[in-house]
Amino acid sequence: MIFAANFKTNHTRATTKHYIEVLTQKLHAEKSDDRVYIFPPATALDRFEGAFTLGVQNAYPAVNGAYTGEIGLEQLEEFGINTILIGHSERRQILGESQESVAQKFAFFQEKGFEILYCIGEPLEIRERGDEAVMRHLLSQFEGIDVGYEKLIVAYEPIWAIGTGRSATVKEIASTHEALRQTIKKPLLYGGSVNAENIKEISKIAFVDGVLVGSASLDAERFASLVLR
Ligand code: PEP
Repeated sequence: MIFAANFKTNHTRATTKHYIEVLTQKLHAEKSDDRVYIFPPATALDRFEGAFTLGVQNAYPAVNGAYTGEIGLEQLEEFGINTILIGHSERRQILGESQESVAQKFAFFQEKGFEILYCIGEPLEIRERGDEAVMRHLLSQFEGIDVGYEKLIVAYEPIWAIGTGRSATVKEIASTHEALRQTIKKPLLYGGSVNAENIKEISKIAFVDGVLVGSASLDAERFASLVLR
C-alpha cells in the first residue's frame, strides 16, 4: 500500500523535522513493504533520510525565472526532490488552476522525470447526479495528461470528502476505483477523510492501492498508526 501525507499549509521547518524523526522511529519498529510519501510545505523541504519519499505539494513548471512567489526545478533539485503532487482540488478550486495549467505542469515535470501524484475528484453536485456524471467529470480531469506515464500515481479524492470528516462510503470508493481502473493502469489512491479508524476497511477495497491523507497525517504518531494499521 502507498501512504501519502499531505501537510498542506501546516507544519513549520522545525515541526516537520521533529515529525520525520518520530515517524521514522515508529515505522522503523515494523518491517513493511508499504511505501510512504510526505508532502510538507515548501519551506520545510530538506534532505531528510528515512524509509519514505519526500515530495513537494506544488511547483511552477520552470527551471527558474520571474515567477514571484513560486518555486521551480532549481529549488527542488537543491534538496533532491523528484516527486510532486499535481491537480489537488484545493489548487484547482482555491488557487484557480485550470485543467490546461495542470496539464502543462504535468508535462513539464514528466519531462523532468518526476514521480507525479496526480489528483482528481468531483464536487458534491456531480456526485449527486450519479455514477455516470462522476466518471465523465473524473475523466475530463485527465485531459492533456499522459495516463501511460510510468511514474504516475493517481489519487481519487471526492472534494466533498476532503477535510470534512465524511469519507466516501466503501461502495462509492469501490465502484469509482473499479471504473477508473478501466482507464488508469497505474496505482490508484483514495483520499478524503481517511483516518486510523477507517483505514482497515478502505485498504481492503479492490483497486485501492493506497491513500492520500490530509488532516489525519498531521500528527506523526497518528499517521504512523494509520500506516501500521
Ligand atoms: C487531501 O486534501 O488530500 C485530503 C485527503 O485531506 P483529508 O484527509 O483531510 O480529507
